[in-house]
Amino acid sequence: MHVSFLLYTEVMKRILVTGGAGFIGSHLCTRLINEGHDVICLDNFFTGSKDNILHLLGNKHFELVRHDVTVPYQAIVDEIYNLACPASPVHYQHDPIKTIRTSILGAINMLDLASEVNAKILQASTSEVYGDPIVHPQTESYWGNVNTVGIRSCYDEGKRAAETLFFDYNRERKTKVKIIRIFNTYGPRMQPHDGRVVTNFVGQSLRGEDITIYGDGSQTRSFQYIDDLIEGMIRMMNTADDFIGPVNIGNPTEFTIKELAVKIMELTNSKSNLIFKPIPLDDPKQRQPDITLARKMLDWEPQVQLEEGLNRMLTTFKG
Ligand code: NAD
Ligand code: UDP
Repeated sequence: MHVSFLLYTEVMKRILVTGGAGFIGSHLCTRLINEGHDVICLDNFFTGSKDNILHLLGNKHFELVRHDVTVPYQAIVDEIYNLACPASPVHYQHDPIKTIRTSILGAINMLDLASEVNAKILQASTSEVYGDPIVHPQTESYWGNVNTVGIRSCYDEGKRAAETLFFDYNRERKTKVKIIRIFNTYGPRMQPHDGRVVTNFVGQSLRGEDITIYGDGSQTRSFQYIDDLIEGMIRMMNTADDFIGPVNIGNPTEFTIKELAVKIMELTNSKSNLIFKPIPLDDPKQRQPDITLARKMLDWEPQVQLEEGLNRMLTTFKG
């Protein structure tokens, strides 16, 4: 009894998760709580919701803080996962100035906090830093092909600037930083109306509505199941302090958007029709992570392939 108490306190960390009430954040908070850590979930509820973390609210090791990351925040913590930022194009284009403020001021505020309390901080960056990539698959050494003035730029450039800040804090203040570049992730607790392709197609298929393919559906994405991402994030946080990344975290199996639509229709026995709508501006034509670095440094690779992941997600969406 005495020994297990000692072990427990030795491994228990105080962890701040910004954006913790969102899709990815809520899964991360759940995993960290299940591992016995003390978690502060900080969120302004722009796209997140209390429903996502309802199951954690009674836990004495879980605290929910309504706060905006564009405003400085103080807490003594050992680790920070910085996830606060709308991720769906519909959401981040709703108020683009707020989006870029969230990425840049949020990064500065959380880096200041990490420096002050000597915490490790991990940035949830994105495959969007590669823009509409010319190099395929995307390796971390590729600098990207990003429009600075388009409708996606508030998100892409905000995330790129955040990566720059992370490296500068590390060089100038020796802040312990880590960066992962997350590729399209899906799973339970995505908002049914977030406008992202997996949620749109699943909802449309289940309701028997037309499935809206933007463009001719030949653009590609590589879809990662949420549990694989959470495993990769935690492994990255636990690497040695001198390993910063950035590291791609994604599932390298690539699909066209049309193939995704057909797959979801098959799994839901849907009678929906495919319809074609104009493709949004600057929509990347292809995306596939090269995960050689994650395999080597994190001993990580995705375990859940698309069909299995979609089936798991469908169980919750049908409800
Ligand atoms: P999400 O919209 O579900 O979650 C984002 C969370 O951040 C929400 O709870 C929202 O309320 C909160 N938030 C937004 N602005 C905030 C602010 N100013 N202050 C405090 N909280 C704020 O999106 P998600 O899919 O869970 O994405 C989480 C993170 O992962 C984001 O940083 C996103 O850029 C990154 N990411 C996600 C994906 C993906 O496929 N889901 C891919 C690449 C990167
Ligand atoms: N997409 C689509 N129909 C939809 C929603 C999205 O064809 O109803 C396409 C979109 O144009 C893009 C891809 O699916 O090519 C992925 O879109 P999403 O918004 O999920 O993510 P991102 O573009 O940021 O990868």
